[in-house]
Order: sequence, then structure tokens, then C-alpha cells
Amino acid sequence: MVRIHAGQPDFFLSQGHFMNDWQIQTRASECQGCGRRFSDRQPYHTLLWADADAGRYRRQDVCPECWETRYRQEARTRPEVVSLWRGVYEAPPPPREPIQRDAAESLLRQLCERGDPRYRSAVYILAVMMERKRLLRVKEQFWRDGCRIFVYEHTRTGDVFTVQDPALKLSELDEVQREVARLLEQGLPPAGSDPGSDPGATGETGTEAAMAAPDAPARP
Ligand SMILES: [Zn+2]
Repeated sequence: MVRIHAGQPDFFLSQGHFMNDWQIQTRASECQGCGRRFSDRQPYHTLLWADADAGRYRRQDVCPECWETRYRQEARTRPEVVSLWRGVYEAPPPPREPIQRDAAESLLRQLCERGDPRYRSAVYILAVMMERKRLLRVKEQFWRDGCRIFVYEHTRTGDVFTVQDPALKLSELDEVQREVARLLEQGLPPAGSDPGSDPGATGETGTEAAMAAPDAPARP
């Protein structure tokens, strides 16, 4: 259900706002139209709004009733709705033990929270790595300002990651993979420091992370 609004890139360009294209949006546990709690296995509809003033995307999960009575119409008429899809709500399991997160997932979440455009390519590579591990799947994609944005959904939690396609050239791939391997090994440097200021580590490619990194994340 990919939709591309005619004129949408112009709409955002003319607003002159920066959009943070790396975001995590958790799935709501109740309808964000009427407030009723979702029950296990019930279907829901998601609208992804581009909030130009806030410079971010906003996810809205609504129940089928609210979808029919209100949001189906809004999705059709409001240009700020850049993407929409249907899902099935799964009640979270009882919290018995801390969630074991994959190293790539932890790093991706950190980078999304940081929102530093210097990590644009690393974010994309991590998302592709997680897609190959079936931790993420591409739910939607849309275009904005000439850039492709992937909407990735976490297969277990339903969290949504919006990730910009950096349109990597093959010649840039090695360097980005080394950067990702370095980040996985050494962690994210403190905000404000230069991520490229560690030339001593760039020669290391023998880590598991580098092996697991995709060799050709370019998409058709
Ligand atoms: Zn509702």
C-alpha cells in the first residue's frame, strides 16, 4: 500500500523545515482516536504524519471504527499523511526478564535518538542488517524531497523506524561498513565528538559485525 502524493516533495521543501528522518515510533497500546485499549490480535490502522513544524514524523494507531468514521477520509485528503498501513496488535508478553537486544538493534536505537545526520549511512546499514536477521521488515516506503524513506517495522514489538535511504555508492560501502563495525565494537562516541576522528580503528575488518554487514544493500 505504497502511496506517493503528487506534489508532496514541493510541499515540504516550501515549508523549509528540516525533518529528522531517523526515528523510532513505538506502537500504541490504545486507539489514538477514541482511547480504547487494543485487545490482543485485534487489527488496527496506522497513519504516519509528517509534522513539518516539529520536524518529525508522528505515528498514529487507530482502531477500525475510528478508521472508518474519521481517519480513512483524513488519510485520503491530508497531504501530511505520508504513509499508512494495517497491522495486528499483539499484547506484550508479561515482563519476566529484561529484553535481550541484539547489538545492532541497540546501536540503531541509539543512533535514531541521537539524530545526527553524520550517521545517516550507518543507520541504513544497521536497518538492512536487522532486516536480514528478520528483526525488521520494510512496511512502507515513500519519497520526500527526492529521498526515499523506508518505514521499517520491528517484527516482535511493532516499533517503527523511519530510515532514509542514503543512496550509497558501491565505492562508499566499505567505509560505511567499517564505521558500523567500529560502532558495534566500541560503542557510540559522546555527542559532539567527531565520528570520523578515529583513523586507527578503520583497518579492523575482522569483527563479526563486519562479516554480518550486507555486501550490497542497494535496492532495486
Ligand atoms: Zn478508536
